Amino acid sequence: MKIPDKIRKFNIIEFLGNGNFGIVFEAYDPLLKADRAIKLIQVPEPDKFVEAVKEAQTLEGCRHKHIVDVKEVDVCAYEGVPCVYIAMEYLAKGSIQKHLDSRFISIQESLKIVSEALLGLEHAHNNNVLHRDIKPGNILLGDNGEAKLSDFGLALDYHIDPSDTMGYRPHQPLEVIDGNPMDRLSDIYAMGMTLFRLVNNLPNIEFKFTSIDEWRAAVKKNKYPERDYLPHIPRKVKTIINKSINNDPAKRYQSASEFRQSLERVIVPIDWSPLDENTWVGIGQNRDKYEIRKESKRNGWAIDYKKNGRRITDHCLKELSGDIVKTEFFKIICACHA
Ligand code: ATP
Repeated sequence: MKIPDKIRKFNIIEFLGNGNFGIVFEAYDPLLKADRAIKLIQVPEPDKFVEAVKEAQTLEGCRHKHIVDVKEVDVCAYEGVPCVYIAMEYLAKGSIQKHLDSRFISIQESLKIVSEALLGLEHAHNNNVLHRDIKPGNILLGDNGEAKLSDFGLALDYHIDPSDTMGYRPHQPLEVIDGNPMDRLSDIYAMGMTLFRLVNNLPNIEFKFTSIDEWRAAVKKNKYPERDYLPHIPRKVKTIINKSINNDPAKRYQSASEFRQSLERVIVPIDWSPLDENTWVGIGQNRDKYEIRKESKRNGWAIDYKKNGRRITDHCLKELSGDIVKTEFFKIICACHA
C-alpha cells in the first residue's frame, strides 16, 4: 500500500495500522500545529457515506476524557476511491495491546487502566451507545498514562438492534454466541475479559474452533478462555473478574459504574512485577521498595525478602525443595495483598 504524503490539509507521517474499517495514519495538522491520528475509510458506494461517518458522530456525541477525542470528519479521495476520514487526537503511547506485547503489566496498572476505560464506557452507555468491540487494542494511553476507549467503529445506538455478531470473538459472551444482540452486559463481559488478559499478561487468545457449537460448548464450560490465573493475582481481583465474565448475564455487574466501583475498592498494598525468573520487585503504597528473590543453594532453595534494602527475616526461608519453592514464593507475594 502506498502511503499518501497528504490527506487534505494533513501531512501524513506514518502508517499506524489497519483496522476492521479503515487505515490509520499518524498525521500533522500544519494549520493548528497539532498531531493527529487519521482514520481513512474507503467508501466506494455513495450510499455508504452515512455509515462511514457513524463512528465520528458517535464519538462527537459522547465526548469524555476517557474516550478518544474526535477533531473533525470530512471526505477525500485516496487511490482514486472516495473516502471519509476521521481526524482524532493522536495518542503517542499507543494501545494497551502494544504494551501487553512488549512489557509486563502490574495489577495496579491493570486496575487503573480498566477503571478509567469503564468511566468512558459508563459515559457511552449513558448516551445510549454500546462499544461492541472492547479489547486491549481498543484502549489507548494518553500522554499522562490515562486510558481512553477508542474504535467505536462497531458502536451502534441502542435503537438499532444488531443481529450480526461482529467484534473480537474471544471477548464474546455466551448469550451473544447464542445469537442474542450485544448489549451493555456484553460490553461488561468484554471489559472483564480485557482485565483478565491484563492481569495475566496475555497478549493474545487463540481462536481455533471449527464450528460455533464447539466454541459455545467451550465457553459454557468456562474452558474458553481457560480461567487460569497467574499466581501473584490477589483473590479479590479474581473474584471481580469472575463476576464480570460470568456466563449468566444476570450475575455480572449490571453497569459499568458498579464494575468500576468494585475495582476502586481493591487495595494493592504492594504492586509486584518480575525483574527476572527468580526476582520480583514491588512498590508499596507509600513508595517503599520491596524485593523477593529465590536462589538455589547447596542445601536447597532459599527465599530472601527485602524492604528498602533491609532483609525482613519473617519472610525469608531456606532449605526448600524445588517442588515447593514456587508455591512459597507466591504465598509471600499474595500474603501482602491479604
Ligand atoms: P480493529 O478494527 O480490529 O479493532 P485495530 O484496533 O488495530 O483493529 P484501529 O482502531 O483502526 O484498528 O487502529 C489501527 C492502529 O492505529 C492501531 O495500532 C491503533 O493503536 C492505532 N491508533 C488508532 N487510533 C489512534 C490514535 N488516536 N492515536 C494513536 N494511535 C492510534
